[in-house]
Amino acid sequence: MKQRIERIKKELHSKGYKLTPQREATLTVLLERESDHLSAEEIFLLVKDKAPDIGLATVYRTLELLSELTIVDKINFGDGVSRYDLRKEGVDHFHHHLVCMECGSVEEIIEDLLGDVEKIVEDDWGFHVKDHRLTFHGICKQCQTSKAKVN
Ligand SMILES: [Zn+2]
Ligand SMILES: [Zn+2]
Repeated sequence: MKQRIERIKKELHSKGYKLTPQREATLTVLLERESDHLSAEEIFLLVKDKAPDIGLATVYRTLELLSELTIVDKINFGDGVSRYDLRKEGVDHFHHHLVCMECGSVEEIIEDLLGDVEKIVEDDWGFHVKDHRLTFHGICKQCQTSKAKVN
């Protein structure tokens, strides 16, 4: 995790920003909870444990900055809450999400899977694809099994 923070620190430096202790605390929380999709308020509460002096506004600004630099992606799964998601390392495209409509769990697919679709978009629309966001809404495996048991 230290190495990853180091790499992000370099990225920030190359774009003219410093890794302040507040930014580092925010990044640490995002890394520790990488598989989660936390809202700004949830992140703030976790950051506060590490840096009690930090204010919500600072955490917001940090998250905005990290989104601008595409270190973090802001996502919304349709419940009106903005969530923050760290970009995976060494992957060109944003990962896909599987959101369960029953239990609300969120799974991630890191593989792009969209090569053919991207090719069609580029060929037929002459549009150069740089990124995409794909959220599948459905019923997760676990909810399907528990339903099968009840019926
Ligand atoms: Zn994600
Ligand atoms: Zn489920």
